[in-house]
Amino acid sequence: PEKCVECGECIEVCPVSAINLPSAQKTVDTGATAGKTQLKETGFPDSESKGEAPVEVAAELTGDLARYRGVWVFIEQREGEIVPVSLELLGAGRQLADKLGVELAGVLLGDKVCGLSDRLYEYGADKVYLADHPVLRYYRTETYMKVFVKLVQQYLPEIILMGATTTGRDLAGAVATELSTGLTADCTVLDIDPKQRLLLATRPAFGGNIMATIVCKNHRPQMATVRPKVMKMAKPVPGRRGQLVTWQVDLKEEDLLTRVVEIVKERGEQVNLQEAEIIVAGGRGLGDREGFRKICFGLAEAIGARVGASRAAVEAGWIEQKYQVGQTGVTVAPKIYFALGISGAIQHLVGIRGSDIIIAVNTDPDAPIFKECTYGIVGDVFQVVPALIEPLKELLS
Ligand code: FAD
Repeated sequence: PEKCVECGECIEVCPVSAINLPSAQKTVDTGATAGKTQLKETGFPDSESKGEAPVEVAAELTGDLARYRGVWVFIEQREGEIVPVSLELLGAGRQLADKLGVELAGVLLGDKVCGLSDRLYEYGADKVYLADHPVLRYYRTETYMKVFVKLVQQYLPEIILMGATTTGRDLAGAVATELSTGLTADCTVLDIDPKQRLLLATRPAFGGNIMATIVCKNHRPQMATVRPKVMKMAKPVPGRRGQLVTWQVDLKEEDLLTRVVEIVKERGEQVNLQEAEIIVAGGRGLGDREGFRKICFGLAEAIGARVGASRAAVEAGWIEQKYQVGQTGVTVAPKIYFALGISGAIQHLVGIRGSDIIIAVNTDPDAPIFKECTYGIVGDVFQVVPALIEPLKELLS
């Protein structure tokens, strides 16, 4: 704030209206509460030092909060294909909606995507809000945020879930900012406090050392993002039907700040560990780059698995970051996860807990990975893994 000259240029170019001038008084009106509650805030509120404002707001908003009903899941699609995390979230959303006794809805934005709605009912949605328009063909913060916010203001959901993908993270932040509500990112557990109708959003905090349950008491909707593969996908019910609500989009291409000129797809090897059935992951215990290649790639090639890595192996430069599994890497849920020379730090474990079977090899019998694994082998990876290759090949062929 002390460097701002109040020229106002940043305000004009921010597609989600998230910037205010330090000296300006701003009236936040979530739309849903239009005409009922107006919350006065300074551009950079310091509510703790001012004291009274949050208490007053909570009391004033209570009546409006009760008007919000239902659980929504943002249905992310790319080129007409539903991104799997959206279906996983329909499963999680179904449980929340049942606990609250409300409807579950999917919110589907795109161009010529109407045909996807049947699948959403099968995965648990009672309703689909569909905004189908050429301006929504490619994801843009501006267009998706504007349409999503209007839907929220019209239909007042109490909970919104989005996948913690690049798109979901971007949209969730923009929507929460525009609606002046709370957002808990990268949740690992979602539940309901039925008395207060609160979403209990649990996620690792303080570098993964504690699990924090976060609530959004005074604002609606309550928003959360969840990474792919954290929630198990529910079994679809073939033929299950629901209600389609079509939303008329009133955006014009010429009024928008951003334009998609070209989509350039990344070349090179796609890692896609999230879809892998078997992962052979290596850590610092593999000694050096050569040891990592020999053991991890050797076993992975022999049994048709993908390779993953701990952050220590990535930071040592033995393998690229896109192979990293864990809190700051990818969350995986394979049938079999091999943890070779990996100690089992909490930041690694949070990324592998969805695995059906974890097989760990480590020289240290007290390594934390042994408390989490299905099968543990205390031994040197350079002796154990070569001895395992032939029997595993036979077993898995
Ligand atoms: P180490 O902890 O050093 O373990 C090496 C293991 O190899 C030891 O248990 C040792 O007994 C064993 N060993 C040694 N020699 C052999 C041998 N010959 N045979 C068999 N075993 C052997 N880490 C991640 O992995 N993913 C993340 O996403 C991630 N995010 C993080 C985010 C934050 C905010 C922070 C603070 C940390 C994060 N970390 C992450 C780092 C994490 O805390 C650990 O430092 C890291 O996971 C350790 O990697 P490692 O198990 O390979 O190495």
